[in-house]
Amino acid sequence: MESLDWLIIGGGIHGVHIAARLVGEAGVKADRLRILDPGERLLERWRTSTTTTGMTHLRSSSVHHLDLDPWSLQHFAIKRRKRTSDLFAFPHNRPALALFNAHSENVIARFDLADLHIQARANRCSIDSEEIGVQLSDGRDISARNIVLALGTSEQPYWPDWAPQEDARVHHVFEPEFDGWPSSTETVVVVGGGITAAQIALRLLNEGHRVHVVSRHPMRQHHFDSDPGWLGPRYMAGFNRERDLDRRRAWITRARRRGSVPPGIRRVMLSAIEDDQVCWHEDEVESLDGHGAEIQLRLSNKAGLTADRVLLATGFASHRPGGTMIDELIASASLPCASCGYPVVDSALRWHPGVYVSGPLAELELGPVARNIAGARRAGDRLVEAIHSNSTAASSA
Ligand SMILES: Cc1cc2nc3c(=O)[nH]c(=O)nc-3n(C[C@H](O)[C@H](O)[C@H](O)COP(=O)(O)OP(=O)(O)OC[C@H]3O[C@@H](n4cnc5c(N)ncnc54)[C@H](O)[C@@H]3O)c2cc1C
Repeated sequence: MESLDWLIIGGGIHGVHIAARLVGEAGVKADRLRILDPGERLLERWRTSTTTTGMTHLRSSSVHHLDLDPWSLQHFAIKRRKRTSDLFAFPHNRPALALFNAHSENVIARFDLADLHIQARANRCSIDSEEIGVQLSDGRDISARNIVLALGTSEQPYWPDWAPQEDARVHHVFEPEFDGWPSSTETVVVVGGGITAAQIALRLLNEGHRVHVVSRHPMRQHHFDSDPGWLGPRYMAGFNRERDLDRRRAWITRARRRGSVPPGIRRVMLSAIEDDQVCWHEDEVESLDGHGAEIQLRLSNKAGLTADRVLLATGFASHRPGGTMIDELIASASLPCASCGYPVVDSALRWHPGVYVSGPLAELELGPVARNIAGARRAGDRLVEAIHSNSTAASSA
C-alpha cells in the first residue's frame, strides 16, 4: 500500500492552490504528496463549468488566483504582454478567464502538480491511530498521515423538484459532462436569476437562439457574491468572535448574495430585455410537461411557456458535499458537525488530527468567502501556518 505524508482529495481550484502552498511554502516534499481527482486533468470541473457559461472574465479580482504571491497573476500578464488593459476588466481588475487559466496552468507546471495527480475518486476513508486509509475507485488503497478534503460542490448541481433528470431536453448547465447545448436554432428557457443564468442567456442570444429567462426575483446587482468586507477583519472579526455555529451559518446565508449579477452583465441583460431579444419572466416554474414535441412549462402565475429545451442555471445544492464517503468518515470517527451538517473544525481547519478541510467544508471557520478563490487562499494560509507551528514545536521538543 502506498504511504504518503499528504493526500489532497479534490483537484479543483482549492486542491490545486493548497498543493502549491504545501510544496512551495510549507516545505512538503512533492514525492510525499498526491492529489486525487476523477478528472482527466486537474481543474477539469472549473474549466468545463466556466466554458459552458461563456464568461469572459472572472467575477473576483486579480489577487485571487492559484499561485503563492498575490501579485503573481499581474506579473504573469505583464510578462506576456506589454499592454495589459485588455487582460483585466474594470472595475476591480478582474482577470480574463483565458489569462486566469493560462496562469493556473503555469502554477501547475512550475510545481509539477500534474505528476502528482491520481485520476480516481476516494470511495472510502478510515482513520486509524497514525494514518488515514483511503480506498480508491480504481481498487487501490493509499494511506496518508494527513488528508485535505477539498471536495467542492461541483458534483451536486441543484435540480428543482419539477425538473425531470431523465428528459434529454432538460439539462443542468453544471451537470458532469454537460452536453445540453443546442446545435440548431431553438427556443430555450433558462431557469435562474443569478450571474450564470444571465451569462447563459447572453451566450444563447449571441448564438441566435430565442431566449426566455425565468427568475423568482428581479435582477439583483452586486459586484461580488459577498461584500469585500468578508475578506478581512471588517466583518470576519465579529464572525470569529461568534461561538454559536447556528448563528455563524445564519451570517453566511445572509452574506452570500446568491442570485446576483455584477453591473456590467446586468447592463447588457437589461438592454437585451428592452430590445425584446431576451424575454424575462419574474416567476417560478410549477410544473413541466415533457410529452410531445415541445416542452410545456407552467408558471406560478398560471401563464405557460413553450420551449424546445430547458437549461437550469440554479446553482448547487446547499447540503454538505462528499456524500457517503464523508457520512461514513463522520460515523467512523465521531467527527463533530454543526446542526447544518457542516464540519466543526479548529482554526487550523483540522477536523481530526490529520484531517483538514477547505472550500465549503471549511465554511463555518472561514466564513462566506470559503468557497471562492479567496477562500482557497485563506485555507492555504491556515494550513501553512499549522505545518510551520507543528515543525517549530517538534524541533523545540
Ligand atoms: C461558473 C463559475 C464561475 C466562478 N467564478 C468565480 C470567480 O470569478 N471568483 C471566485 O472567487 N469564485 C468563482 N467561482 C466559485 C468557486 O471559486 C469555484 O466554484 C471553484 O471551482 C471551487 O473550487 P473547488 O476546488 O472548491 O471545487 P470543485 O471545482 O468542485 O473541485 C472539487 C473537485 O473534487 C472532486 N471530488 C469530489 N469528490 C471527490 C472524491 N470523493 N474523490 C476525489 N475527488 C473528488 C470533484 O470531482 C472536483 O473535481 C465560480 C464558480 C463557478 C461555477
